[in-house]
Amino acid sequence: MPYNFSVNEQANSVLVVDIEAIVSNYKALRTKVIGADCAATLKANAYGLGIEKIALALNEAGCSTFFVATIDEAIELRKILNSDRKQILVLNGFPKGTSPIFKRYNLMPVLNDFMQLERWIEFNKTLEKKQKAALHLDTGMNRLGLDEKDLARLIQTPQILKNANVHIIISHLSCSDESENKMNNRQLLEFTSSIKLFPKVSASIANSGGIFLGKEFYLDLVRPGLALYGSVPGHSKNELVHAVSLYGRVLQIRTVRKGELIGYGGSYKATRNTNVATIGVGYADGYQRSLSGNSRIFFLGSPLPLVGRISMDSITVDISDLQTTKLNVGDFVELLGKNFTIDQAASLAQTVPYELLTGLGRRHYKHYHSTRY
Ligand SMILES: *Cc1c(COP(=O)(O)O)cnc(C)c1O
Repeated sequence: MPYNFSVNEQANSVLVVDIEAIVSNYKALRTKVIGADCAATLKANAYGLGIEKIALALNEAGCSTFFVATIDEAIELRKILNSDRKQILVLNGFPKGTSPIFKRYNLMPVLNDFMQLERWIEFNKTLEKKQKAALHLDTGMNRLGLDEKDLARLIQTPQILKNANVHIIISHLSCSDESENKMNNRQLLEFTSSIKLFPKVSASIANSGGIFLGKEFYLDLVRPGLALYGSVPGHSKNELVHAVSLYGRVLQIRTVRKGELIGYGGSYKATRNTNVATIGVGYADGYQRSLSGNSRIFFLGSPLPLVGRISMDSITVDISDLQTTKLNVGDFVELLGKNFTIDQAASLAQTVPYELLTGLGRRHYKHYHSTRY
């Protein structure tokens, strides 16, 4: 078997998510930052890979703090974890009118401005048992979080943090994928000088890239997302293993005579009699059209050159040079994986692995490789 999954006959493609690898990456990161706590950032449905199995496995591995972007993601995660013991933080803040949801699902907002802080204080006054919050300080990214003016106000009235029951203060790095970028230390410095004023609160600045910038970035809590899947743009990460593979099914095999054209626009002209396999994955599946001419597709370790443009639902590959093995209709070829990683694919498609992963779409069958889930 060239692949370690079995799926329905009707599956055109299979996204294999290696849960064991994700847990192993989580544990490697936790060991690396020892002394600090290691959260998991599972926003956007765990970067498009499906939050349920990943969250359950990380939960069992001892992860006790989870970050998501939206309230809906937080609700879904709380239902999956089926327990109130773990912290779920909502990065996108505490919008008006949502307090009943924060209460019902025991969610922790990451408060992004003074208005949200005050709203959270008012909400907490109505509770018998106070609910915790986190606070975001902007340190130069200018996306979310309290600005300098807000911070000055907070410093004058530190009681606000106590009233709002703020337990964690976070900031976010804008250039953590560039270890030489001076912005990283500048943000860290600004952050550490601010949090010194609030010694009872824990502090967190490192995403995946931040963890690889050095110990000074660990602080009390790190919050990797992408690194869980073995990718950390801009850093070497020997301790992590790749966790995501994509396979596409062979729909048809044909012989194209020398001189004939293949695909949309007739952009490819066969330079010899060519055996061509059509694979049932296209740009509608997140196999980005910009990979035309760049992608690397494999069958049992042998490369299959892409010929012609990437279509919405299919691609065509040259299988003429396959020697020892025969490719048949119904077989799966590897589109992403060990031989062509999400980092390599993203870079050739001129995007980032984040966009590649979250764009993989909903059509793939998912296979979770795990001994337990
Ligand atoms: C997405 C996000 C993370 C995780 O980032 P990775 O680079 O995937 O590790 C951490 N913190 C914040 C505020 C984020 O938005």
